[in-house]
Amino acid sequence: MFENLSERLSGVFDRLTKQGALSDEDVKTALREVRVALLEADVSLPVARDFVKAVQDKATGQSVTKSVTPGQQVVKIVHDELVHVLAGEGEPGKLKIDNAPAPILMVGLQGSGKTTTTAKLAKRLKEREGKKVLMASLDVNRPAAMEQLQILGVQIGVDTLPIVKGEQPVAIAKRAKMQAAMGGYDVYMLDTAGRLSIDEELMQQVEAVRDVANPRETLLVVDGLTGQDAVHTAENFDARIGISGVVLTRMDGDGRGGAALSMRAVTGKPIKFVGLGEKMDALETFEPERVAGRILGMGDIVALVERAQETIEAEQAERMMKRFQKGQFNMNDLKMQLEQMQKMGGMESVMGMMPGMGKMSKQVKDAGFDDKIIARQIALVQSMTKKERANPALLQASRKKRIAAGAGLEVSELNKLIKMHRQMADMMKKMGKMGKGGMLKQAMK
Ligand code: GDP
Repeated sequence: MFENLSERLSGVFDRLTKQGALSDEDVKTALREVRVALLEADVSLPVARDFVKAVQDKATGQSVTKSVTPGQQVVKIVHDELVHVLAGEGEPGKLKIDNAPAPILMVGLQGSGKTTTTAKLAKRLKEREGKKVLMASLDVNRPAAMEQLQILGVQIGVDTLPIVKGEQPVAIAKRAKMQAAMGGYDVYMLDTAGRLSIDEELMQQVEAVRDVANPRETLLVVDGLTGQDAVHTAENFDARIGISGVVLTRMDGDGRGGAALSMRAVTGKPIKFVGLGEKMDALETFEPERVAGRILGMGDIVALVERAQETIEAEQAERMMKRFQKGQFNMNDLKMQLEQMQKMGGMESVMGMMPGMGKMSKQVKDAGFDDKIIARQIALVQSMTKKERANPALLQASRKKRIAAGAGLEVSELNKLIKMHRQMADMMKKMGKMGKGGMLKQAMK
């Protein structure tokens, strides 16, 4: 979810983070792009405008922390502001359901995922909080919807109120209340009827049900894919019924995540959960930090830029190790190793970091193995075809000449690289065998 917004924003911030210093003009340009990105993500205009203004105000007064780039700092401010706008009061995912039996009223338009969400939430309350839950469908115009809730109930092991043909919503709500009290239920959920659009009859019906049930929570279920429409729906329901929170469904789709941001800013109501699929487990607590991170695609940039790199490298390393153990070590692997070395600040700095190696770095340099060589070796690998990288044995004299020329180097340099690769591959193979046979076995021999 939020992929579009996050991609757009990362583009903006990529440009920012790559720059050393940041001028007022840079911030302005970047924030203009942030605004466009927000609008394209279906955040409403006033919300986008306010958001950008808040970020600008905060960015202007701040001095730049030494350890991060100014761009990163702006990203952090944008992130914090996103969290601020997205976060509601109260603990996310927590519902007011003390004083059993606590009524939860589920409202929303038809097709928003209301029935599915009712069941998902019941399952969650049962499994995570050990609550005894009763569900009742009030959708008297759609017998199929009532049956659907019953089927889901059986599936998740949650009781549903028996269906009585011809009974009206208010009567059903009263019966649910009684049944919940007598049956020792902690919570009873009322799945109200939905319509294709908001109409007077629907609102009156929900109002009447609300008045008899006196719900502790009134949760509006809205389809997150409908963007601004979802926000309008929420405004309408809140004005008429009074909602305590929102559940955004279909956030697993590639919708424009802006709905979440506008929803909070416009309605002031907390988003309590997000639906992430059709399965009964696909309901998650709405976490502003995480969603803000997703919107940005980079989370808490200051800490995350580094952490993300670490995990990617760790994953890469693990994948590589697995292949090495099987005796696979190709030119691409060699190139990656060389790049790693470059990233760590080159030969000299790598040697300098190792205890007792400081002196050696000079010797290495004197021997002609300097950082330029690393760059040249990488260039050589880059001049090879995919097939050649995977299997350097394919390299024949004519190709060697071409590759060396492509990298602007002598064939002798390429030969050195190939030799180095062979030596390393042999070493990897030996280490791999040791790993497979068990280090102990080797040691005991
Ligand atoms: P209702 O008319 O509001 O009660 O809507 P339903 O609960 O019957 O849901 C309509 C359809 O949307 C069903 O096929 C659900 O499986 C599907 N649905 C509900 N929530 C989600 C969700 O979070 N993600 C996805 N992908 N589908 C959902």
